[in-house]
Amino acid sequence: MTKGKLSPMMEQYLQTKEEYKDCIIFYRLGDFYEMFFEDAKVVSRELELTLTGRDCGLEERAPMCGVPYHACDVYLNQLIERGFKVAICEQVEDPKQAKGLVKREVIRVVTPGTNMSTQVLDEKKNNFIMSVFLEEKQGKNKPDYTIGAALCDITTGEFKVCEISDTEKLQDEIYKFSPAELIGLESILTAGLDISYMRERMHIAISTVDAIYFDAHNCEKQILSQFHVGTLEGLGLKDLPAATMASGALLKYLHETQKNTLEHIRALQVYAVDDYMLLDNATRRNLELLETLRDKTKKGSLLWVLDKTKTAMGARLLRSYLEQPLLNKNDIENRLDAVEALTREMITREEMREYLNSVYDLERLMTRISLRSANPRDLIAFRSSLQYLPYIKRMLEAFSEQLLVDINADMDDLQDLFQWISDAIVEEPPILIREGGIIKDGYSEDIDMLKKASTDGKNWLAELEAREKEATGIKNLRIKFNKVFGYYFEVTNSYKDLVPEHFIRKQTLANAERYTSAELDKLADVILGAQDKLCALEYETYVALRDRLAGELTRVQKTASAIARLDVFASLSVVSEKNQYVRPTINEDGHIHIVDGRHPVVEKMMNHQMFICNDTCLDQKEERIAIITGPNMAGKSTYMRQSALIVLMAQIGCFVPAKTAEIGLVDRIFTRVGASDDLASGQSTFMVEMNEVANILRNATQNSLLILDEIGRGTSTFDGLSIAWAVVEYINTCVGAKTLFATHYHELTELEGKLDGVHNYCIAVKEQGEDIIFLRKIMQGGADRSYGIQVARLAGVPRDVIERANEIAAALSDSDIANNTKQITKSKMKKKQEENVQLTMFGNQVESELIAELKGLDLTNMTPMKALLYMNELQERLKKSL
Ligand code: ATP
Repeated sequence: MTKGKLSPMMEQYLQTKEEYKDCIIFYRLGDFYEMFFEDAKVVSRELELTLTGRDCGLEERAPMCGVPYHACDVYLNQLIERGFKVAICEQVEDPKQAKGLVKREVIRVVTPGTNMSTQVLDEKKNNFIMSVFLEEKQGKNKPDYTIGAALCDITTGEFKVCEISDTEKLQDEIYKFSPAELIGLESILTAGLDISYMRERMHIAISTVDAIYFDAHNCEKQILSQFHVGTLEGLGLKDLPAATMASGALLKYLHETQKNTLEHIRALQVYAVDDYMLLDNATRRNLELLETLRDKTKKGSLLWVLDKTKTAMGARLLRSYLEQPLLNKNDIENRLDAVEALTREMITREEMREYLNSVYDLERLMTRISLRSANPRDLIAFRSSLQYLPYIKRMLEAFSEQLLVDINADMDDLQDLFQWISDAIVEEPPILIREGGIIKDGYSEDIDMLKKASTDGKNWLAELEAREKEATGIKNLRIKFNKVFGYYFEVTNSYKDLVPEHFIRKQTLANAERYTSAELDKLADVILGAQDKLCALEYETYVALRDRLAGELTRVQKTASAIARLDVFASLSVVSEKNQYVRPTINEDGHIHIVDGRHPVVEKMMNHQMFICNDTCLDQKEERIAIITGPNMAGKSTYMRQSALIVLMAQIGCFVPAKTAEIGLVDRIFTRVGASDDLASGQSTFMVEMNEVANILRNATQNSLLILDEIGRGTSTFDGLSIAWAVVEYINTCVGAKTLFATHYHELTELEGKLDGVHNYCIAVKEQGEDIIFLRKIMQGGADRSYGIQVARLAGVPRDVIERANEIAAALSDSDIANNTKQITKSKMKKKQEENVQLTMFGNQVESELIAELKGLDLTNMTPMKALLYMNELQERLKKSL
């Protein structure tokens, strides 16, 4: 090889790399996967591996690092978790038979959204990959898109698609499903999605793909062939071109990375975003549905309270129920019927749950069977999962509620599959499939014969060993075996002189010699031949059984989905019973009347204290907005969140923590709770707060439920109060949504009586000398103070500070903010009046230029909040100019 010319192997490597530019190549060399050049540098840095070099034909050695192939999963998973893609380039011919360079091919590309590793995936969560198609609509001034999205969990075979009307809703869908990977054209990066939040906070790997992926003709072809249908109509995709593109592109991507027919992706579900209650990201987080805000742990979340599922499939489904509360009264009632029936038949439910204990993750096991990657232990787990299905089915027969009847109809007892595995596979098989030990005695005559040959062979060897020992007088003569030399006699050096002539030397060790003989060679041939044949035949038999099981995919998937639903309803029933929840009544006229409601999580977290129940009463007419005042620590946030959670629980079909609950369906729940800095995304506390407020005011409808906690706290009192005031007016006049509005601006209680539908509530406390006692009881009327200083004292703030704070508070109490607010007239949201209010606030000092600017403004196009923000800006400019 001349220096300056790449070696053939390196050429092969570089060709592969050229095809998979965006991947790290795991290049199989002997017992290692090696990485070269830039890949080697990146991986050695990421995984702290030693960087070495390899002669590649050029002057300089190629940087190289490697991982042993049998332990590669660990390294692979670490890279995938960090968002890399890995192409596994395997030897595809036997090196012993290869003429020249061994042929290699990429057999699979592992990406975050297509990882199948049981070691890293949480069995209680889906691992979605999402494809997004975005096309700008013609003739629009502002960016507007036609959007299609497709989602797949390759580990379970779930595939769903939808069309979405705007990028904000697309963003919500992305947050909802929190995919591990998102694919799309370059345009997704500039469509106004919060790409950096998705990448950095949600750890979504974003992969841009070429336009060819979204070619309409190819997309249709991909879909028709994957789902074995003749037209798109049958799949419900006929009038959904954007969803078709997203699905086709996703299938192409999956096929190209998996290099597999992906037979287990059998069904495509079309869903409409508007079929479910919309929950934006802030609301999801604020209500702590799946994890807590502070520690991001499940403990302390609503899911933590509700999840008593027994199977991984049930856990995944419950999660998706929480992410997608229903909007249709009938669907909700059906779920509630199922939960109620299981609560009524508590003994039956408990017995069924006992059986569910032995059900493993059938969905993922079936995927492995279908992809031909299931090992014998997977089959044993699969079999155990089927054992009690006939009992469950029999018990389900006692129920007449629609969803439970459906579950029974979808559930197959799969006893034929149970029998196939029981007959063929030993109880405790190995993981490896090529080394025998898998098939039961009596299953196949050929296998039994070969087994006999190999056991008999062991007797023959023992006989030969005894005979030679006797004949030679070598007392410690042994016949041993290793993989390199096969069978041999071992003689220690002290007996070397007694070795007979027909022994042929094979190997010399420090203290012993190894020999063979013609007879031993012959025996070894028979035994090893039989063993090889046995392993091969066991493998063949195993694979045939696995293929046969794979043919039953549809039955198993349907059954797995039925088990998941049963598990979820049983879990909701258990939780409802244990926690004394009640069945809510659902109405469509929008009134919410909760009597003695409780916070499902806070009541569970309280040790010995009693949770104090509270009522919630809201409707779309007289009781639209509740202004809630009360001391710090009184329980305002808890109360508001509990109301939202009760509504949400009812809409997923769960009983609720209350004495009685009438729940008017809500289309969205919005929350703006507490102050949180979002420094990582370059936004201040106040900016985050205002973004959330803007989102709420733009998107809420009169059927929404708004939870607004301390709007306007992130800025000066004057600005904050003004914004809070304007927001209440706007919600009341322009949105009409049911709203719980907690505030420390007691001035806002002035709005009761001024605005129809606004009422004051406060949370009671009792003063006892310098102390306050929290009664935690919500009452009609407004609070007059916040008792912030008492709470600060309770928290241990030094006495000097508390005393001084009391002095300052006394001086400030004469301040005129409260008086001034009494003067603010009722806003009609009309141009003239807005101008007037704003001008009053500026007084006479406004410079003529600013007045002119303000007068020239078209305020009818602005939300009051926007107008106020604008005014604040003018005010700043004014201050500077004075
Ligand atoms: P702040 O104005 O300071 O934000 P807050 O009024 O919003 O306070 P919460 O945070 O809701 O008060 O409640 C404070 C604590 O009081 C909670 O952590 C909880 O432990 C307890 N608490 C709240 N509501 C109740 C209740 N109904 N019964 C018993 N304890 C409660």
